[in-house]
Amino acid sequence: MKTKVLSIICINILLFSLFCFSFQEKKIEIIPTKVVNLESRQKVIVIDAGHQKKANTKLEPIGPGAKQKKMKVTGGATGKYTKQKEYDLNLKVAKLLEKKLKAKGYRVIMIRTKNDVNISNSKRAKIANEAKADAFIRIHANADTSSKTNGVLTLCQTKNNKYNKKLYKKSYKLSKAIVKSIAKKTGAKDLGVERTDKMSGINWAQVPVTIVEMGFLTNKKEDKLLATKAYQKKIVNGIANGIEDFFK
Ligand SMILES: [Zn+2]
Repeated sequence: MKTKVLSIICINILLFSLFCFSFQEKKIEIIPTKVVNLESRQKVIVIDAGHQKKANTKLEPIGPGAKQKKMKVTGGATGKYTKQKEYDLNLKVAKLLEKKLKAKGYRVIMIRTKNDVNISNSKRAKIANEAKADAFIRIHANADTSSKTNGVLTLCQTKNNKYNKKLYKKSYKLSKAIVKSIAKKTGAKDLGVERTDKMSGINWAQVPVTIVEMGFLTNKKEDKLLATKAYQKKIVNGIANGIEDFFK
């Protein structure tokens, strides 16, 4: 009888330690899986500082296989009051955004880090496609015939875009989140999301894309504000928060 009880106890102890051992084993397995998941979750953001110092007036199709052509890349607008060059302002903001997003843990790829480059709009989109960007952010500043026009807006494709309509919903969500967030951070007028299929850099994109028009270089107040680092930082905070909202 005693031996029977003893053997039952022994078996129980054995089963219990086996259970503990297998549990520990599982625990060990869980840790590396978590690390892998965290790494694979790192989002890729491609930033394109719009335009460049010297325009490239040669033509390229406005989308894959398109008959309609547009200039490869233009020089952009000039500040009516400050005389700042749009390509230079775009690069300054792009670099501040790069720093901000890296600090938040994103992987950032810059289309250009200097003004003296020659990269067409379709090529810029192809770089974002190859990088499998989770978001392709194109930084620009606006201009209008009326000096009264002011505010921030973003652009994306329409839901009927011939080349990438499947990305419309994501691009719209990205554009909406960013314009809303910039307006909140800067106090600028929220002009919303403009949907267009005329932009080569959008049409060639096979990833979620937005053009950020930070403000009007033809408006006295915005031209002057855009020339200050303090305002550029507000815009960058707005874009970064908008990107985070997009991924939520
Ligand atoms: Zn521009």
